[in-house]
Amino acid sequence: GAVLSRSDVRPAVLTAGPLLPVVGADTEVPLVPSGRARYVNLDTAASTPALVAVAERVAEALPLYASVHRGAGYLSQVSTALYESARDTVAGFVGARADDVCVLTRNTTDALNLLAGCVPPGRRVLVLDCEHHADLLPWQRRGATVLPTRATVTATLRDLGAELARDRYALVAVTGASNVTGEALPLADVVALAHAAGARVAVDGAQLVPHRRFSLAATGADYVALSGHKLYAPYGVGALVGRRDWLDAAPPYLAGGGAVHDVTVEATTWATAPHRHEGGSPNVLGAVALAAACAALSGLPEGALEAHEAQLRARLEEGLDALPGVRRLRIWPDSTAPTGVVGFTVEGADPGLVAACLSAEHGIGVRDGRFCAHPLLARLGVPQGALRASVGVATTSADVDRLLDGLAAFLCSGP
Ligand code: PLP
Repeated sequence: GAVLSRSDVRPAVLTAGPLLPVVGADTEVPLVPSGRARYVNLDTAASTPALVAVAERVAEALPLYASVHRGAGYLSQVSTALYESARDTVAGFVGARADDVCVLTRNTTDALNLLAGCVPPGRRVLVLDCEHHADLLPWQRRGATVLPTRATVTATLRDLGAELARDRYALVAVTGASNVTGEALPLADVVALAHAAGARVAVDGAQLVPHRRFSLAATGADYVALSGHKLYAPYGVGALVGRRDWLDAAPPYLAGGGAVHDVTVEATTWATAPHRHEGGSPNVLGAVALAAACAALSGLPEGALEAHEAQLRARLEEGLDALPGVRRLRIWPDSTAPTGVVGFTVEGADPGLVAACLSAEHGIGVRDGRFCAHPLLARLGVPQGALRASVGVATTSADVDRLLDGLAAFLCSGP
């Protein structure tokens, strides 16, 4: 095959260092057949490492936590204040309106399932087939219309508008950024179409809010769902933020302590949202961690996050495009400004094998498989799976170059 030298594939675009420090950034891993290398995590779309600021905040809060909303003791009061102020920080981070509710959940999947249970009974939901399963299956299960993604953004928006005119919908659920390609429909257009037809908009923000400034108030979107572990905080915490009325009217997500006002043997009066949907003892440390991550990202200068990830994406795209047989996945040729998630294939090579070689021989973590988006992968012509590299605040251009080097070596050795 072609002999590649590193200079053939070195991109000309600007270099970038880490924007915020994360824990474990200098972790070393063993290589095959021998040696060690600093681990390069290009799988931030799956989970992000924790920010140093998050780890510090959790260490401070750990000695303080106690039962929230229930105890009169000093630590219970401190924990309740920590938990409720974390809720406010998360709401602020996504630009919640004054009357929006922030329900703390386990993750995005949990948040979207909660919302699916709050759509008024009998009302219809519209969703596209390019969604992550977390934003497809809760709707599919309640009989949503799943609209096929078209070849262009323009055609997809046209179909969306036509479907909204054809039938009466309560809600359109859309991704804020695809976990396969980083692309999204322009949210302003989706909101305008939906609202004109009397429908609300729920944004799956799992891959959006950690990578772009997002605001419910500014976009007019009605709900957003997010996951802590994709936002530089640990697992087990997420949020659903948005309009109060449906959340107050729906049955509690989990029946139990904390979700009630008053209980007799005969009947229960439920609390209003958010407590209505937070039955059981909450994840106080998770909420503290999530809020610390939101605060750290909010503290970045305007545009810094977007510029950092755009530079890395440009370098990644340029490098991948220079490698023979490597094809980047795109849903729409006319989509603009995708986030730092790049799906790709290597011609003639099993994605699992490529990912395993990158890991074992180069210490690089990428994702392979079908990315919990089976209908989208089928639509993109790769039903068996693909590879995905994704960046974040701690990714550097040296990390991107390590991937490009590793792929060049894989191609030289022959798939
Ligand atoms: N939505 C998107 C776009 C995702 O990428 C993911 C996770 O990969 C999810 C939803 C689900 O997130 P979680 O597994 O944290 O619920």
